[in-house]
Amino acid sequence: MSQKNRRGLATAYEVVTERADDGKMRSRARFVCQGPGCEKIYDHTIRSGEPLNSMAMVNKMRAEGWAAHHINVRDTYCPQCLALAKAMNNDTNSELKKLEMKMSAQPAAPQPDTAPQKETVVALTPMTADQRVKMRHLLEGHFDEGIGCYTDGWSDQTIAENVGVARVHVEKMREAAYGPIRITEQQKALFGEMKQMAERIENNEKKIRQLFDQLAALDTANVEQKAALNALMEKAKAA
Ligand SMILES: [Zn+2]
Repeated sequence: MSQKNRRGLATAYEVVTERADDGKMRSRARFVCQGPGCEKIYDHTIRSGEPLNSMAMVNKMRAEGWAAHHINVRDTYCPQCLALAKAMNNDTNSELKKLEMKMSAQPAAPQPDTAPQKETVVALTPMTADQRVKMRHLLEGHFDEGIGCYTDGWSDQTIAENVGVARVHVEKMREAAYGPIRITEQQKALFGEMKQMAERIENNEKKIRQLFDQLAALDTANVEQKAALNALMEKAKAA
């Protein structure tokens, strides 16, 4: 949850004040992992009278493997989710990225006494209006922009072949209109399995907690019965 600090700026953490075991009220700056279904917490203890140093907190977290930003709450990731997010960057053979890299590799400012820069990027054949429509239609039908994943075995390459254009055109339109490829179809299936497994674990934990409650109730009943038995025995002895 994004909070406003005293200067009215949004912060990536929330200040949580709770009573500690020693009865004193303690405040913590709390960052929450934004990984799907994670909610792992990183608390920074705030000593009274000490000003909040957002940058120091963020640096400490980064040193411990977290991703964090003092303002952007969406940049908070625990080490596990960070590893997962990194593994999900699967668009490694992107023609568009290669093109962008080629362009950024060119010197930013040409030297004044050298010949004008040569155009190193090969000009692409522009698409026709029909090809654009067809491509948009295929992307609409076979790319899940919510999770950044192609469906039914489609890819930038198959769309390019289907429309009859260079793949970089598909990548450009997909990136602009539907966003990046974040996971593969295989990973999507794995994620489904992982989610089911997590749900089963959660259900089991719930059952374990219920069993513990039943055990505690049985234990209490036992203690009461023992006391009653002892009282009867005392009575029998006295009789
Ligand atoms: Zn996490």
